[in-house]
Amino acid sequence: MWPFRKKQKTVAAAMMYSQVDITEAFGDHQRLGVNEWITTQPLNATSDDPESMGLPRVGADADAVYRVASTLSEIRESIPIPNDGVYCPVCHIANVDLDRLRTPCPQCGRPLLKFGWD
Ligand SMILES: [Zn+2]
Repeated sequence: MWPFRKKQKTVAAAMMYSQVDITEAFGDHQRLGVNEWITTQPLNATSDDPESMGLPRVGADADAVYRVASTLSEIRESIPIPNDGVYCPVCHIANVDLDRLRTPCPQCGRPLLKFGWD
């Protein structure tokens, strides 16, 4: 699914995901404008053992979730991936405008992280 899996096997083995949230439907971003935000879903809510996949545990507090998400984002930020946008793993919102990367979240002020849509 993500291009870096083939190139960086050690990273892929340690971390199954490069973000802690996903959007509900494939292709959500294609109908979003740069000023629109969409709600995201935490991946750890749908996983039996989220920590083994590099995700925050269920019920982790906001700062812990953000720490994990920020580390994953750094990996994703090191690789150019077409159509990536940004998200806040605490407020669970995403936006298609990658220029907002590491700018403050409009809701909580934490720096926005890199988000893949597919
Ligand atoms: Zn936020």
